[in-house]
Amino acid sequence: MSQTAAPAPQAAIAVEGFENLYQMAASQFTRAADTMNLDKDLRVILSQPKNEIIVNFPVRMDNGSYQLFKGYRIQHNNILGCYKGGIRYHPQVHLDEVKALAAWMTWKCSLAGLPFGGGKGGIQIDPTKYSADELQRITRRFTHALGSNIGPDFDIPAPDVGTNGQTMVWMMDTYVNTFGAAHKNVSRHVVTGKPVSAGGSEGRDEATGRGVVYTIAAWAQEKKFDLAKATYVVQGFGNVGSFAAKILTGEYGSTLLAAQDHTGTIHNANGIDVEALFKYAIEKKGIAGFPGAKAIERDDLWKIKADILIPAALEAQITSKNAPIIDVKLVAEGANGPTTPKADEIFVKRGIDLIPDILCNSGGVIVSYFEWTQNKQGESWYLDEVRAKLKRRITDAFDRTMRVKAQYKTDMRNAAMIRAVDRVSTSYKERGIFP
Ligand code: GLU
Repeated sequence: MSQTAAPAPQAAIAVEGFENLYQMAASQFTRAADTMNLDKDLRVILSQPKNEIIVNFPVRMDNGSYQLFKGYRIQHNNILGCYKGGIRYHPQVHLDEVKALAAWMTWKCSLAGLPFGGGKGGIQIDPTKYSADELQRITRRFTHALGSNIGPDFDIPAPDVGTNGQTMVWMMDTYVNTFGAAHKNVSRHVVTGKPVSAGGSEGRDEATGRGVVYTIAAWAQEKKFDLAKATYVVQGFGNVGSFAAKILTGEYGSTLLAAQDHTGTIHNANGIDVEALFKYAIEKKGIAGFPGAKAIERDDLWKIKADILIPAALEAQITSKNAPIIDVKLVAEGANGPTTPKADEIFVKRGIDLIPDILCNSGGVIVSYFEWTQNKQGESWYLDEVRAKLKRRITDAFDRTMRVKAQYKTDMRNAAMIRAVDRVSTSYKERGIFP
């Protein structure tokens, strides 16, 4: 049996103006805290996550050798309810990134009015480099290593970049088997984002993309902007970007001009057939080579004039380098943390609106909450009910953000953060700090 050494913790990845992504997330919090004049004590309490769990675990590869993996679960805050947030499989995953993503979950759940706190986890791997059997063993071993650090009424994972419903079923199955037969059917809500057949909710697969579109629709209504005449560009054609496009074009009639994923960047000035691209991307595992558009350079994506830009890939994609050339009316953040604070400032100066991540992409965790509720109550809701409830909840969060924006005369990112921090700080004030 051969065994590789534990992977070295990855050096922090600097983000424009910050040593790492967590510092960027913390700066957004500080800005909101300054605007709303938040207590010093609460700033201290909220400056770091509550728990940082790191596990190293061995997994047998298909060739019989063993490899050691490093997995993270960060539990940022649980004053409003269970820790909640996705599990990411990506080569860039590292401690500071997961901490930032966990913090954003706290603010996202708070803004959406959910009874959840924030968490996030991940493993630093490229899932495309492993067989399905290996991914299953990695996921099960990771879940086992986390043990009772997760739980249906404690910390509830969900899919994120590089994971999906299949990953969640493996996690659920491992968890319920580890905790004994009596738990088998009462603990399904230990994860959300499961396939419907395994106890998932109708509409969870499309939920983040659908939520992105509902926030765009709320913005369009506010601006009296006709989405049927709108053009848009999507960066990232995975779960979030592809469903957002399918719904924005299919239900609102907007035209997709360009898209990008890890395989390539494509453009068609006359509009891309979104349904055809959706099917093509699933079949070919990427958008490169799509016959209904021409390939362009990666960086040229940002130069395309459109009404709406939907970054739905990774963090820190929009910086002071490309923000000045982005020619759109609205940036709708399907991804978590895609825009740096320097780019935010440029957009504010240029009069470009931005629907921030914690609002724009909250549809995923909102329907995760519906899934969790259905599991707890033994219910199964129809797709139209799920969509209607999602629309109501996310539109309500949008309206609340707009009210705070007007009250503080600030931008939408700061307004959304203020509202989110306010709910958490009210809860601390009511409960007091133990001991
Ligand atoms: N990973 C998603 C997010 O970043 C969903 C989290 C969840 O459903 O818990 O919001």
